[in-house]
Parts: sequence; structure tokens; C-alpha cells
Amino acid sequence: MSDKIEKYPFLDLYKSNAPYAEALKEAAARVIDSGRYIGGEEVHSFESELAHYVGARYCIGVSNGLDAIRLIFRACIESGRLHPGDEVIYPANTYIASILPIAELGLIPVAAPPARDDMNLDLQRIENYINPHTRAILLVHLYGSPCWDKEICDTLRQRGLLIIEDNAQAIGAIASSEGFSGSKFTGALGDAAALSFYPTKNLGALGDGGAVLTSDAELAAAVRALANYGSDTRYHNIYRGYNNRLDELQAAFLRIKLQDLENETRRRREIAGAYGSAISNPDVLTPKIFTDRRQVWHQYVIRSPHRDALRDYLSANSIATDIHYAVPPHLQPCFRGAISGDFTYTDSMADTLLSLPIANISGDDALQIAGVINRFRP
Ligand SMILES: *Cc1c(COP(=O)(O)O)cnc(C)c1O
Repeated sequence: MSDKIEKYPFLDLYKSNAPYAEALKEAAARVIDSGRYIGGEEVHSFESELAHYVGARYCIGVSNGLDAIRLIFRACIESGRLHPGDEVIYPANTYIASILPIAELGLIPVAAPPARDDMNLDLQRIENYINPHTRAILLVHLYGSPCWDKEICDTLRQRGLLIIEDNAQAIGAIASSEGFSGSKFTGALGDAAALSFYPTKNLGALGDGGAVLTSDAELAAAVRALANYGSDTRYHNIYRGYNNRLDELQAAFLRIKLQDLENETRRRREIAGAYGSAISNPDVLTPKIFTDRRQVWHQYVIRSPHRDALRDYLSANSIATDIHYAVPPHLQPCFRGAISGDFTYTDSMADTLLSLPIANISGDDALQIAGVINRFRP
């Protein structure tokens, strides 16, 4: 990309954190002065505040989102619920971090196509991808849009399938029906959920961070042990584990930003609403806004058959954009030819996706940007 200064940058993390700067500095000082940098009061409090917010029984703060996914699947293997060679269905258009840990643990990722309207795994057609080797489904609440259907997921569960959520993009999202633990919040819907606090996420740390949420005591205990060298009590190792801990400093930062997450969500929803009502170019498809669920708009992704021309045109008009994601996981060099499944729609869709700015703009900015988009002629 060029290094020119855009009127509408795609994302400016300094701007994202500026409203919290004083509180963050105070929190940093508090941690520095506490003398406790790993496994202290901040992590403990953040875990219970996050579990409470989402409505899950257990929360384990961990190092990042990818590790959270790996810990969940490893815990499922250690508790005998999954075995290497088992198939895990995932949405073909997700970010690659969703499936890296699955493949690494010897489980088999099997791609299923997204629904055309919300770009999430098409649960209505999930049956077509289930075979006797299928043991789990990875739901990804992509772009901040909840992927859930109580009736279908209850049936899948009764048949012994695990439902795991990759909730890296959707903290604060609310599904249209209840999850297994009674809450409708993403992260509390399935058997366990992974969250990411990568700085660009809706709840972003000032470094790496993540969490595992679950209401299953056995999985929670396994994840907590696995994240701490596999030890259940001090110097007693029941698993060959990892070091995947969240640290005190990030937890202190996250506690401050969690308190304001509802405002952040409201702001993102306002902008998505402004884009949705103002964009009227027939060559642009805007993402569906559902009234029966709460989307939190980690990304606002439009689709156009003239994506590249539109992107150049917006750039010329000082509007930065991004693409989530230009190349789906199964076409990346590390997985090419190694993943089976159904890639219809995913491959052709990738060339149409375009993410508009949403993190640092106002509703008025969104109307200005929509006006520019409406004047686009391919
Ligand atoms: C960001 C992200 C991850 C990985 O999270 P990290 O904290 O960056 O490791 C996984 N899945 C999805 C869908 C993501 O957006």
C-alpha cells in the first residue's frame, strides 16, 4: 500500500486506544507496583468479569486466540472426546488461524461452504458434510456475526458431535436462540469457545491475549492445566502441556476496555446501520443486517464483482480498505491440496470481498464514504 495519509484510514490503533490512554497508564502503573506479573489478581478478575459478561461458567485467560483454539482441541483429545484422525467441519472462508491448531493436532479439517447471506457456516446444509468420521464442528462467528441455530446444534450435540466456537471476531454478539449453557452470547453457545484480544479485535489488548470460555468443568480444568505446562498442581504434570498464559499487564488493560465494550459495540452497529442504509450502488452488495440477533461488526464486508476497481477508486478518494480474506486457508501454500471439503462459493466469493473502515470512523464519516461508493461506476 502507499504511505500517503488517507482521510479515512482503515484502522488506527493509536486512535482506538486514545480514549482509554489515561486509565491504561494507571493500570500499567498498578501492575508494575504490584510486583505480580503472571497469575495474579488482574488475570483472576478479568476471567471472572469476562465469564460473567458472556454467561459462561469458566474463563481461562490465555496467550492469544490461536493458542485458545489449540488448547480447546487438545483438551478434547486429553479428555477422550476427540482422537487424532477425527474430522472437524469448519467454514471454508474463515481466517487460517481457525484451522492451524486442528491440523497440527492430527485432526482433519473438512471445509463446508458459507451461507450466501451472512457468509457464516450454512447450518441448514451442515448435514451434507457430516459422515461417520465427523466428531466436531467449528463455528466461526465471522466478521462479528453470530453463527448459531439452537435446534440444529442441539440435534448435532445429541448425536455426539462437539460444537466449538471460534469467537475471535464476535465478543458481545448475541445469537437469535440460546446456547447449551442458556446464554445467547457468542462464546457461551457451544461446548467451548476461543477468544482473541489481538489489538485490532473489538476487545483489543496492547499486545497478544486470548481466552477460553466454557461451562464444562472437565474441559476448563484441562485447558487451565495445558496452558500451564500441563500441571494441575504445582510441579505435578498430568499433560505434556504448553505455556499459554495471559499476563497481568494485558489483563489489567483488558479489564478497562471490557467495561466500555457495550459502547464500542453500539458505535460499530451505528456505523454498520449508516453504511447499510446509505450504500445504494447496484454493483455493491452490503452485508445483511439481522434483526433477530446482535452483530458486532468486527468487519463491515461488502461484495462487488468489480472489487479491485472499486478498491482502487476508493483509495484514489482517500478511503483505505482491506480484504478479509483474499486467499482462503485451503489455497494457502501450507495447505494447498491438503484439505478436502466443499469450496463452492468460497473461492469465487474471495475475489469480491472488500472491508470498509469501521474501527475509527463516525456515523457521518460512514455516510460520506457511502456517497463516494454510490458514485462508483465500473
Ligand atoms: C484473530 C483470529 C484468530 C487468531 O487470534 P490471535 O489472537 O491473533 O492468535 C483466530 N480466528 C479468527 C477468526 C481470528 O479473526
